[in-house]
Amino acid sequence: MLTILKNRFEQGYRTSTYPKTKIELPARYRGLPKVNPEASLALAEQCAAACPQDAIDATGRTIDMGRCIFCGTCERLCEGGFISFTRNFELSTAHRRDLITGGDLPALADHAKKHFKSLFGRSLQLRQVSAAGCNACEVDLNVLATPFFDLARFGINFVASPRHADAIVVTGPISRNMKTALLQTYEAVPAPKVVIAVGSCAISGGPFRGSPETTDGLEKLMPVDLFIPGCPPHPLTNLHAFLNFFK
Ligand code: SF4
Ligand code: SF4
Repeated sequence: MLTILKNRFEQGYRTSTYPKTKIELPARYRGLPKVNPEASLALAEQCAAACPQDAIDATGRTIDMGRCIFCGTCERLCEGGFISFTRNFELSTAHRRDLITGGDLPALADHAKKHFKSLFGRSLQLRQVSAAGCNACEVDLNVLATPFFDLARFGINFVASPRHADAIVVTGPISRNMKTALLQTYEAVPAPKVVIAVGSCAISGGPFRGSPETTDGLEKLMPVDLFIPGCPPHPLTNLHAFLNFFK
C-alpha cells in the first residue's frame, strides 16, 4: 500500500487538462487542412490528380475531409503552396456537407438537435460497432478509457449492450457481412438515439470507397448526427466531438 501511495505521489496527476487548457500536438500531426485560394489552378489540379481518395476539388478549392485519409501526399507535392495541414484537431461536424471545406468549420455545438444536450449532456452511454474497421479507429476510441484521457470523468462510457446505450459509434467501411449486425444494433438502441460516424471509412467508405463489398458511408443506412473525420481520428478529435456536440 505504501509503495502504491509513493508511486502515486511521485507520478503526480497524469490526466490531461483538456479541454480546460489547450494541447499542442507534434509538428508531424495533420489536422484541419488549409487551402490556399491564391494557388494556381495547375498546382491545384496536380494535387487533385495525386489524391488517392479523390478528395480535392481543384476549382472549388476545397478538401472533402470525409474522404481524406490525411496521407499528406497533396501537401508534400505542392510543398504547402495549395494545401497545408494545421495542428488543429477539432475537426468534427454535425453535417456531412460541412466536411467539404477550404479550412473553416462551423461551431460543432451549432446544430438542430439541441435537445440531445438536455437528454445526454451529463451521462452519455456509447455502443461501439466495428463494421469491418482496420482496428486503428477502434484503438483510438479505446484509448479514451486510459487515465490520460479518462473519458468517464465527463460522464461518457462505452457499454456492452446497445440496449443500455444512447448512441452508436460506428467505425469501418461497413462490409456486406457486418451490415445486418449494424442495423440490428441500431434498432436495439432505444430512441431517441444518436448516430456517430468515426473515420473516413464510416463517413464515406474511406480507402474502400466504391467496393461492392462495402457501403460508401453510414448515411446510406441510417441518419448520422455526428461526423468525426480522420484515418483514424486522433483521440482528442473524438473527445472534442463528444464534448462539443452535446454542449
Ligand atoms: S492528405 Fe487527403 S486530400 Fe491530401 S492527398 Fe491525402 S487523402 Fe488526398
Ligand atoms: S478510417 Fe482509416 S483507420 Fe479508420 S477503419 Fe478506415 S482505414 Fe482504418
